[in-house]
Amino acid sequence: MNFIEQIIEEDIRQGKNDAKVHTRFPPEPNGYLHIGHAKSICLNFGIAKKYNGKCNLRFDDTNPVKEDTEYVDSIKEDIQWLGFQWAAEFYASDYFDQLYLWAEQLISEGLAYVDDQTQEEISKGRGVPTASGIESPYRNRSVEENMDLFRRMRAGEFPDGSRVLRAKIDMASPNMHFRDPIMYRILHASHHRTGDKWCIYPMYDFAHGQSDSIEGITHSICTLEFEVHRPLYDWFCEALRIHHPQQIEFARLNMTNTIMSKRKMLQLVKEHHVNGWDDPRMPTICGLRRRGYTPEAIRNFAETVGVAKRDNIIDVSLLEFCAREHLNKVATRTMAVLDPVKLIIDNYPDDLVEEMDAVNNPEDPEAGTRKVPFAKELWIERADFRENADKKFYRLSIDREVRLKYAYIIKCTHIVKDEAGNITEIHCTYDPNTRSGMPDSNRKVKATIHWASVKHAKKAEVRIFDRLFAVPDPDNCEEGKTFIDNLNPDSLKIQEGWVEPELTLEKVMKIKYFQFERLGYFYADPDSTEEKLVFNKTVSLKQ
Ligand code: ATP
Ligand code: MG
Repeated sequence: MNFIEQIIEEDIRQGKNDAKVHTRFPPEPNGYLHIGHAKSICLNFGIAKKYNGKCNLRFDDTNPVKEDTEYVDSIKEDIQWLGFQWAAEFYASDYFDQLYLWAEQLISEGLAYVDDQTQEEISKGRGVPTASGIESPYRNRSVEENMDLFRRMRAGEFPDGSRVLRAKIDMASPNMHFRDPIMYRILHASHHRTGDKWCIYPMYDFAHGQSDSIEGITHSICTLEFEVHRPLYDWFCEALRIHHPQQIEFARLNMTNTIMSKRKMLQLVKEHHVNGWDDPRMPTICGLRRRGYTPEAIRNFAETVGVAKRDNIIDVSLLEFCAREHLNKVATRTMAVLDPVKLIIDNYPDDLVEEMDAVNNPEDPEAGTRKVPFAKELWIERADFRENADKKFYRLSIDREVRLKYAYIIKCTHIVKDEAGNITEIHCTYDPNTRSGMPDSNRKVKATIHWASVKHAKKAEVRIFDRLFAVPDPDNCEEGKTFIDNLNPDSLKIQEGWVEPELTLEKVMKIKYFQFERLGYFYADPDSTEEKLVFNKTVSLKQ
């Protein structure tokens, strides 16, 4: 049980909030969700589920300039894909009327004022935490004047940046957020939901807690950077005399070799360092999905990482471990040769084609078997043959034997090279008695390799990824450089390979998750066509 669950269980025991639990996930629709958000989603929806409560989805859409419905749609898709369903879908912008009334209420009680200072003057006046700030010359305006000015702000009489509404709290507070925080600013911008209805918009601090309150949220879970905002969250709830949810902070997820900021991800997309938000190298949920991560793997990762009170950095290999663990259970096995060299079985009949029985998933008996055509000429991996093999190399070499998976034991006899010295053909003989069901089928050899029939195999494009950032901490860079300079120039490699002929477009799109035997886990990319299947490498089989 994590510390948040401890707090919640204690609240339930004491009958707080009628012993009910109501959480929310509050993304700003200004970008696609990343693995850090997945952590927050699993936490908020997970807690609601565990305690028979509810979890809302609330779009924190108070900044019209950066927000868009494209992001709203992608966020909903990603949450559902992760396996969660919200109790209700809300928007902070649904509450603009109520928030406005609350602002007037605070003005009428002498707790808010219109400030004509520039943004610069306001920051300067706030000062530094170790000394008192300076009060604005407009701080002691009358209630009537404040009300009049605020209404005219709303009516659109003033240009952007000319005035703000501030809460009148304490310019000497050691907590900078208490030094008369801004509640409303003027912004003549169209909002993706409210259109041109408003030209003043509430700030995060004047919207978030109140939105929680309106929805009857009991536990408002957020990341540590909001800890310093909590006194203000509490202050607004108390000053407005409204339902007061409890804000609880946890450490945000940080991961090695990864950036986790929508702003930076947007830059990667805009400057074409990646092929869109769902590029399989991206830490976005849609990128991970396209890479071949399963929702189960991501949920399991979030669970394994746990909930911390202090910032830490998780190694990206933990995410990969979680992917392997789940894919091993669900991925359909298939044979693919990605760096092919031709193997010719000289004593195999020229026109014979045999159908070999192959197991679809040894971890799941219900997955059944399939037939793979076998013939005289096969593709095998170039790396499975070595001309000058030492004792530690167990695979194919001249005069040595290996088993061809689901088929025969073969013995290499000789090789053919081109003028440049590259191997073009590997010749061998096979032992007909070693196929499964035959007398020598149990004969042991040191290695088994996979293959694809030259005559039957299907061509496929395979995208192999390396880390998008070559360094553990991409944000840590020398002066004059940015995280962009830490991009790994070799993070994408495109290969052509051969896959089993039974893999049709329809089939791979249905199966989606594959294990290419001995090579790794692969995901059927939506770029696949009837003519050319495309696979993304998710992870290798072992670390
Ligand atoms: P970014 O800096 O990437 O834009 P954000 O925190 O501004 O992230 P929001 O849309 O405001 O993004 O986040 C929605 C919710 O997800 C918030 O409750 C936030 O605390 C949480 N969240 C964001 N990033 C992480 C993270 N790395 N780990 C855990 N939770 C996160
Ligand atoms: Mg944010």
